[in-house]
Amino acid sequence: MTKVTSGKTLSGRIFALLFSLSFVVMLVATVAATAACFNVYEKQAEELLLSQAESCADSLKGETADEMIASLQDLPLVEVRCTLVAEDGTVLYDSEAEASAMGNHADRSEIAQAKEGGSAVALRKSATLGFDTLYAACQIDSGMVLRLAETRTSLASFLAGMSWQLLISLLVIFLVSLFASRAITKRIVQPLREIDLSDPLKNAAYEELQPLLGRVDEQRRELEEQNDELEHAVAIRREFTSNVSHEMKTPLQVIGGYAELMEAGMVKQEDVGRFAGLIRSEAESMRVLIDDVLTLSRLDEHAQTTMNPVCLAQVCKRVMRRLAAQAEERDITLVDDLDESVRIMGDEGLAEQLAYNLVDNAIRYNKQGGRIWLTVRSEGSNAILSVADEGPGVPPELRERVFERFYRVDTSRSRETGGTGLGLAIVKHGAESFGGSVSINDAESGGACFVFRAPLASS
Ligand code: ADP
Repeated sequence: MTKVTSGKTLSGRIFALLFSLSFVVMLVATVAATAACFNVYEKQAEELLLSQAESCADSLKGETADEMIASLQDLPLVEVRCTLVAEDGTVLYDSEAEASAMGNHADRSEIAQAKEGGSAVALRKSATLGFDTLYAACQIDSGMVLRLAETRTSLASFLAGMSWQLLISLLVIFLVSLFASRAITKRIVQPLREIDLSDPLKNAAYEELQPLLGRVDEQRRELEEQNDELEHAVAIRREFTSNVSHEMKTPLQVIGGYAELMEAGMVKQEDVGRFAGLIRSEAESMRVLIDDVLTLSRLDEHAQTTMNPVCLAQVCKRVMRRLAAQAEERDITLVDDLDESVRIMGDEGLAEQLAYNLVDNAIRYNKQGGRIWLTVRSEGSNAILSVADEGPGVPPELRERVFERFYRVDTSRSRETGGTGLGLAIVKHGAESFGGSVSINDAESGGACFVFRAPLASS
């Protein structure tokens, strides 16, 4: 069997899809979770700085700006820059820069907002990359604003700081996706690998595969049937061949035997003619047998038969002429009733052989001095050809079997009268080639009545 492969495998495709999907999903989920954590952490830092600013504002003492600055300097602030801004925006004090050198801060968003709402937070990107400054401003009773500032790492530098951890989690994600995708692919593909095509419907594979498996089962069954038919045909043919050889041996042995006697001079001169006649008659039986075998094998091959309108009455008349001498020999009368208008479609030669075999049998199996009724008529859309005789008839239980090749009811009578045992097999096959059939009834005369029925030719 030739294997056709496209190079693609189902497991390869499923694995590639699963792996890329799971890797991307896990990566995105990890990044999203990290970003969410960073946000929460930032929010907490904002709240913390704001509450720190508020508590600083509450703890400031003094009436004048200088008193406030002094009190501010006393506060224990760590890593937090502290700025005091006057109501007009002038910087009064800054813990990390010279206040007088700093410009007016009234336009800073956190200060403007604090003046309106009491407190505010703002995050500003620093000019130096990687750092942000978080501001928390809070208004004091005197109209001044106290602002605390804290330097914070940005998301980018936060992630950069975690590069090792990120690299390791990337590796873990890669490995987990790889093994999980492999395991899932195996589970998906396993039932497909386990499909047993010798019994497709017994598989517990996917529902989606049922139509395909059903079709495979159907084809398997068809194949089995064809195989059975083929084996049957081969067996029949083998049996037929062995029967033919057997049937041929008999006349050959007789011919050989007579010839030997004559050769050995054991035949008296006056008997030579009789022996030659016997040899001729055996040779004639062989010729008839070979003709019948050839006719049957042509019918077996379904060789294209000619399709012409055939007048059954004409055919019967020719057959009667051909068999007149034989009938006369046994003192048999042929009574005919032939409708000249009855025509069927098929091969004229075959129709003649069919009628010949039926009339020939009616003569051979008839009683001495008996009668034969040969009828051609139409019945509905069918043509009927019937041959009835006054012989022994065919017992009902054998009416199917007599159409089998080499089946004889009365073997000795068949051989005596030159029968091959193939006549009715040819009749049955021939009838089928006209789209018809042949059956046996009891004749009113007590003998057999063979009825050939076939569709009338459409005029
Ligand atoms: P055969 O050459 O032996 O006549 P057939 O195939 O023509 O072979 O017929 C098969 C058998 O059917 C015959 O051997 C015979 O026993 C029986 N048979 C055929 N025709 C008649 C008939 N008209 N009356 C009685 N028996 C018949």
